[in-house]
Amino acid sequence: MKFSLHTLVRRWRGAWRRWSLWTLLVVLVVAMLGTMVWLAGRYEASQVQTLLERDTADAVADIRVALTRNLQSLQALHASEPGDLAWEVDAAELLRNRRELVRLEWRDAQLRVRNYAQSPYRPVAWDARLREGSQSDAALACATARRMSSPAYSTSYFQPHGDGLGSEMMELCMPLSAGGRTTGFLVATYSLRDVLVNLVAPTLTRSQEASFTEADGTRLAVLGASRRGSRMFTAKQLLDLPGTTLVLRMDSWHTAPSVFPNVLTALVTAMSIALITVMVVLVRDNRRRLRAERDLADALAFRKAMEDSLVTGLRARDLQGRITYVNPAFCDMVGFSAQELLGQSVNAPYWPPERVEEYRQRQATRFAGTMPPREGFESEFMRKDGTRFPVLIIEAPLINAQGLHTGWMSAFLDISEQRRVEELSRASQERLQATARLATVGEMASLLSHELNQPLAAISSYATGSINLLEAPPLAPAGDAPAATAAQSEQLQDVRMAMQQIARQAERAGKVIKSVHDFVRRRDQAREAVHAQQLLDAILPLVSLQARKLGVRVETSVESSLPPVLCDRTMVEQVLLNLARNAMQAMDDPSIPRRVLEIRARRAASNQHSGWVEFAVGDVGTGIPAEVAERLFTPFFTTRREGMGLGLSMCRTVIEQHGGFLGFTPREPRGTVFTFTLPVASSNPITP
Ligand code: ADP
Repeated sequence: MKFSLHTLVRRWRGAWRRWSLWTLLVVLVVAMLGTMVWLAGRYEASQVQTLLERDTADAVADIRVALTRNLQSLQALHASEPGDLAWEVDAAELLRNRRELVRLEWRDAQLRVRNYAQSPYRPVAWDARLREGSQSDAALACATARRMSSPAYSTSYFQPHGDGLGSEMMELCMPLSAGGRTTGFLVATYSLRDVLVNLVAPTLTRSQEASFTEADGTRLAVLGASRRGSRMFTAKQLLDLPGTTLVLRMDSWHTAPSVFPNVLTALVTAMSIALITVMVVLVRDNRRRLRAERDLADALAFRKAMEDSLVTGLRARDLQGRITYVNPAFCDMVGFSAQELLGQSVNAPYWPPERVEEYRQRQATRFAGTMPPREGFESEFMRKDGTRFPVLIIEAPLINAQGLHTGWMSAFLDISEQRRVEELSRASQERLQATARLATVGEMASLLSHELNQPLAAISSYATGSINLLEAPPLAPAGDAPAATAAQSEQLQDVRMAMQQIARQAERAGKVIKSVHDFVRRRDQAREAVHAQQLLDAILPLVSLQARKLGVRVETSVESSLPPVLCDRTMVEQVLLNLARNAMQAMDDPSIPRRVLEIRARRAASNQHSGWVEFAVGDVGTGIPAEVAERLFTPFFTTRREGMGLGLSMCRTVIEQHGGFLGFTPREPRGTVFTFTLPVASSNPITP
């Protein structure tokens, strides 16, 4: 929790710093671009303003030059003492040429109008009385001119025209003198608008508005140009004339602030766009880089976790054999720390000293370019504490990202545990085999003795019987010779029969030894087709012998038309004998009423076993308790003192070798039935 909170805070801080830096960068770039655009606009405006100032100055200079030229022309009118008529002609000529002049008056020294001429271009309703008044503008200008003895201008005044309109006018009064005495005045009337129209170069007024204004800004005359754009630039220049001062004002209209006012602004804008594009690309690139960094960090963390959790030791060596990397599992395995191992080349500390030479040679062959076996090889390493342990080494060349062979990568598996287990299982296997051999020998010996018991017992009892017969006196009454002979011959008959039985039992014992021998060697027994009745007949004499001794009745039944079975006759007889003997032993208790041994043979009941004959040996004995039943077929398990516990296990083996099944079921009200099956011999029936 603490860790995750710490990580969260660190991440948040990192993100905040990154974002604040980016925001600062964006603000700075936008501010810089804004300033540049504004400066470009301002530069353009100042250019326009400077141009306008220059135009205004030029216009004032033009006007001044023209007024001076006019003054000279007016002086020339009176240069040669003209007569009235000549004056009129010359004045009319002058007025035709100088359109800014509207009227010329020749006045005498008392300012009365002596003669006058008017512009043919402009009809003005002059009021002669007003003009001659002592307070008229002309009179004031002349007063100034007289005082200064030089031409003087009046202030401007509004003069109505005949057509209801009017315009701003200005008077120029030029004193006329002869012999140092003022003889009169020449008064010239200027129309201010015409001054603008005619005296200012048309190039200056075509795109700009020129006007005469008073000092307080009142417009007197305007020469307008059409307005273009929304921003107005204004320049003013004083026109100083003797007697009066006018202000020439020029207004210029521009489309401002325009986005692309000139090349500079366009350039700045283009650069800004490029800059923003670069910034966007940079942001994207940065984002991609961050993502790549994160992916890389994830991959590294995954790799580290993987290396740390591996149980396989990993070691990398460069081409000179120096250790360049070891993982924690390898360090754990050999007991050295990574610092102790890294950089080691010859005589690695985990090499057992006695095998150093061998390992060095192995390393040399590896570095000479011999490829290690793909399945790995086994070797022995030494821990830091000096103990040795076996390892499985799998080596592979280390190829870097450029495809160059830069060293060797090895994986190590500590196989000591595997070795220990192998050793353990080998030892126990050997012990097991020895025991098994011993058991087989024992089993064989026991089997032999067990199986020989019966024929030998039979031989012994026949021999005893024969001896008894030979020793006993003939049972005939004394003196009766023929009877005695008959009795003797009967006895001899019995003895012969006993001897035959002895011979047969001896032969049987021989067969037993042979068949047990075969059985132990697991040789295929000689199978033959035998009728169930034949099998029963073979064992009955022996069974009856024991039954008689124990007081047990023997009942046999064989299903009619039962097919013969295919079996090893001697072995199956042994099985029947064993089961019959066990059954009689279970009934070896005189308190049991009606002790009967039942031996039956019939066709197996179930369909599945239709090709089988079932034999059953039943008794009314003690029965088999559960704990005995569990171990009944275990070799050497017996409940009898003189028993060997091999009978049933042998029986089951024999029956199973025939492909049959041996089992038992309890019997009501008491006793047990042992049953086994044998395969029916081929369809070719054999007559008994
Ligand atoms: P053994 O006859 O030498 O004891 P077996 O393998 O023939 O060896 O029998 C094992 C044990 O099974 C016997 O000791 C006996 O306790 C039990 N057993 C075998 N057959 C019967 C039977 N029909 N009724 C009761 N118990 C039996």
